[in-house]
Amino acid sequence: MNYLVPMCDCGKKLIVFEQIVHFNEYNILRNGKPEKKPTFVFKEGHLNTTRLKCEDEGCDNEYSFDEDEEGRIVRKEKIDEAQNAE
Ligand SMILES: [Zn+2]
Repeated sequence: MNYLVPMCDCGKKLIVFEQIVHFNEYNILRNGKPEKKPTFVFKEGHLNTTRLKCEDEGCDNEYSFDEDEEGRIVRKEKIDEAQNAE
């Protein structure tokens, strides 16, 4: 099956936009400052916030996406502004 790289409605390319959740935890030192080196680091990409963004910064279009049977990114429905605000 022919694969077409997903494009924005405006004609520009789309990029995968991923939001990463990142936590650091620090011990508090006797002088009241946090230790320089974190005792715990947690980093995770949140798939439910991952979406396709237009490469054009002036274009606000965003889309959800899925993968086809060969694991290639395919564009799904447009994410409207109201949904984005949540
Ligand atoms: Zn666009």
